[in-house]
Amino acid sequence: MALLTAYDVVVIGSGPAGYMASSLLSRAGKSVLVIERGRFGGVCVNFGCVPSIFLHDLTSVISRFKEVENQFGLEGQLRLGKFVQRMREIRDRLSSAGEELVRNAGAEVIYGEAELKEDYVLIDGKPVKYGALLVATGSTPDTSLVKGGGVYTEDQVGEIDTPPETMIVVGGGYAGVEIAQFYARLGSNVTLVTEARLLGNLSPRLSEAIKESLIWDGVNVREGVKVTSVKEKEVVSESGSLKADVVILAAGRRPSVPRGTVGLGVVVDQRGILVNEQMKTENPRIWAAGDVVSKSGPKNAHTAMHEATVVYRNMMGQRCSVDYNAVPELVYTDPEVGKVGEEQSVREWAYFPLNVTTRSIITGFTEGFVRIGIDSSGRIVYGEAVGHNVEELMNALTIVVRAKMSLRDFSYTVLLHPSLGEALTGAAKSFFGEDVDMPLKLNRLPARDDK
Ligand SMILES: Cc1cc2nc3c(=O)[nH]c(=O)nc-3n(C[C@H](O)[C@H](O)[C@H](O)COP(=O)(O)OP(=O)(O)OC[C@H]3O[C@@H](n4cnc5c(N)ncnc54)[C@H](O)[C@@H]3O)c2cc1C
Repeated sequence: MALLTAYDVVVIGSGPAGYMASSLLSRAGKSVLVIERGRFGGVCVNFGCVPSIFLHDLTSVISRFKEVENQFGLEGQLRLGKFVQRMREIRDRLSSAGEELVRNAGAEVIYGEAELKEDYVLIDGKPVKYGALLVATGSTPDTSLVKGGGVYTEDQVGEIDTPPETMIVVGGGYAGVEIAQFYARLGSNVTLVTEARLLGNLSPRLSEAIKESLIWDGVNVREGVKVTSVKEKEVVSESGSLKADVVILAAGRRPSVPRGTVGLGVVVDQRGILVNEQMKTENPRIWAAGDVVSKSGPKNAHTAMHEATVVYRNMMGQRCSVDYNAVPELVYTDPEVGKVGEEQSVREWAYFPLNVTTRSIITGFTEGFVRIGIDSSGRIVYGEAVGHNVEELMNALTIVVRAKMSLRDFSYTVLLHPSLGEALTGAAKSFFGEDVDMPLKLNRLPARDDK
């Protein structure tokens, strides 16, 4: 069989991992081919992060609007159709901008399903040779519960044009809780069913915070329900059956290991492809990054991009290892919930509630808190935050956790006033008895904890 052009690197998948590695490698002068079977940008741009953040921001605005309406008598109506259209425009723009960027960096992009053969890749029947191969094929929703048509997966939320009257979300992971809250805020009557407690990878106090918030938004949260099958408009569990206009399956994901991978010396387990710290598989010419990799930690876009950067550095001759020590996680509910670091190393806690920061009192988003965990030598090893817009607090906490800054040093840090960040230094100062409490009951906008 005649082989097509040989490339220094062939990258399968154009999600955050594939996109990042192919841009960096082409810019560094490697000849790169990117193979994509679906939409450029992968899950993150097309079905995951981008649509989710859009819905998060939109539904936060709606919720805020209702609070202001109650307080000041503002009246108005949102045209939801316009928002759905806008979400699709943003997704399409980011997808084509990503492809353009990769092509401008010098890579070629070809659409088709890649299959691994002995020492080449087959794309829809056409063979391509490579010097090195990066498998960045991500993951797809686990649909093993689906026993009939008409079920949406967590990747298909962007296809729903109007909020249904009733919805059942199956799965209590981050995608399930986010989707449940978005649609409850858009007016749907939502039931969330989950076998274990909500967000089992977070500490119970963080899960509780999310649960309270979902219940506040009217979501009927049903934990301990073992679902046995889902089909159009129906969810069957060991305790009976539930029906709704729309059923969304958000019950986990499976790695998308390309056909032919096993058999090339690459080891694969249930969580995905096994790699070493340099992101190399057992086959010296094959690398893997992103959701397709077997790992115990979180699978998210920023981890995928970090791993792809490690692949790039190693392919360029540097010796570089992946570092999962301080990878933040955030659930984009409202309030947001995030954590970073190793909670098991924590010996003492510094704590600060958001309702005593000036910034929160001004905006009215007073619910939530930050907690900073230190080890036996007083170094910051863990941080968590609950509250409106705490994502930037989580980024700041990630920097101090990664730097293992001492809490004492951190307490000397001067942050902007009035800003939410003052909750972080507030926690550190209060740990040393140096905080000054603000009066709690100022004339503020009604907050959710006032109900
Ligand atoms: C609802 C939802 C919300 C999310 N929100 C966030 C968030 O807010 N923040 C965050 O960090 N992460 C979020 N994630 C997770 C994030 O989307 C993924 O971790 C990330 O996309 C993984 O990147 P990746 O490059 O490994 O794979 P993917 O993005 O899955 O891309 C892999 C690509 O490979 C292609 N492919 C697969 N097999 C083949 C083949 N054989 N041949 C050719 N092409 C192939 C696929 O078509 C796909 O485009 C969310 C996910 C979901 C589902």
